[in-house]
Amino acid sequence: MSERQNVLIIGGGIIGHSISYYLNKSGVSAMVIDKQESGRKATRAAAGMLGVHSENAQANVFYKFCERSRELYQSLSQELFRLTSINIGLSRTGMIEVALCEEEKNKLRDKKAFFPELEWLEGEKLSEKIPSLNGSGAVGLHMEKDGHVEPTHVCEAFKRAALHFGGKLIEDHSVWGIEKNEQGYSIQLGNETLLVDRVVVAAGAESGPWFEATGLVDPMVPTKGEYISIKPKKNIWDETLFFRDFYIVPKPDGRCVIGATTKPYDRGHFPTAGGLSELLNHVFSVFPTLQSEPLQDCGAGIRPGTKDGFPIIGEHPTMAGLYFATGHYRNGVLLAPATGELMKDLILDKKVDSSITGLLSPNRLVRKGEHSYEHSN
Ligand SMILES: Cc1cc2nc3c(=O)[nH]c(=O)nc-3n(C[C@H](O)[C@H](O)[C@H](O)COP(=O)(O)OP(=O)(O)OC[C@H]3O[C@@H](n4cnc5c(N)ncnc54)[C@H](O)[C@@H]3O)c2cc1C
Repeated sequence: MSERQNVLIIGGGIIGHSISYYLNKSGVSAMVIDKQESGRKATRAAAGMLGVHSENAQANVFYKFCERSRELYQSLSQELFRLTSINIGLSRTGMIEVALCEEEKNKLRDKKAFFPELEWLEGEKLSEKIPSLNGSGAVGLHMEKDGHVEPTHVCEAFKRAALHFGGKLIEDHSVWGIEKNEQGYSIQLGNETLLVDRVVVAAGAESGPWFEATGLVDPMVPTKGEYISIKPKKNIWDETLFFRDFYIVPKPDGRCVIGATTKPYDRGHFPTAGGLSELLNHVFSVFPTLQSEPLQDCGAGIRPGTKDGFPIIGEHPTMAGLYFATGHYRNGVLLAPATGELMKDLILDKKVDSSITGLLSPNRLVRKGEHSYEHSN
């Protein structure tokens, strides 16, 4: 492992593999290292929603970044299939955000004012779309361009496509230290040391210590989410439904993924009976008929949340060549393509949109300057 790589990416979730794909495709040699089999952490638990409108209340800079990412999926779907024969399950069947109480309805009205192109649904129009909804007076906003993908397929496809372009992958090796030297960085992997030009931290919910010991404020809020999936005997509706307390994503194979609980600072990787019961109580209060549908699967993952709610994407303010691409909270699947593209442009020193790099920059975490750091996982 003494060979010199241009870029080393710590973390093989959907974010790390997307960055590797974009870099290797552009001719920059990038290697992903994961402490276990890659794609098994938050990425594996995700429902895969591309919720540009459900996640944004206004058409601001962050909304545009989300929109760009969702649009990238269109061409990626074909390109990744051509390169890897993996179907990423891109589905643009739309989403409906549903409001049940007056407070939620007011928020939805505000959203409609910001996005006049979205269709307002109430009365018969809403019950035609969601016949089994038990919520008189409910209203909805139809977001027809939003949809979903299969996150594990996307992650695997990015991984294999990066390898196709000459990328490298090491699994079951934990990176426990990085040190800046004159040429770049020394990376500690157990007894071995790897020399690289640049490092990208894409370690998901485990990114916190890398900020703190490189002199920055730790912005991470690891947030557990639990989900359950059912396989209804017949297709109930086509759109993804998004409520305040849960969502239901109908997958092409007939599964409906129901998510998710939100438990800040809970790092438990297993779903609990209490968590699933809380989730299902919300669902059954609106869709009582789903109680008799066959259970398929359940699970949990730790979202890489941040204190200000935005991802951290960009170069360390004082350690040149050290980058972060993490903190995507509940939008890592949606934002994986745009994050990979942006990191590639930053590393290649290309012109980038300064409004988005300013918003997401690690400069907002400055505390003091330090130049090397170790931690054990
Ligand atoms: C229940 C649930 C539902 C979700 N639904 C959606 C959704 O519908 N749409 C959406 O866009 N997002 C969704 N998300 C969020 C999404 O899953 C995450 O934002 C995304 O997966 C983050 O990807 P990541 O690559 O940053 O992190 P991860 O997938 O967690 O990957 C990080 C990787 O880093 C590795 N690692 C950590 N430390 C080290 C180290 N020191 N050395 C080597 N490797 C290391 C880990 O082993 C891991 O494989 C959901 C999340 C959950 C939990």
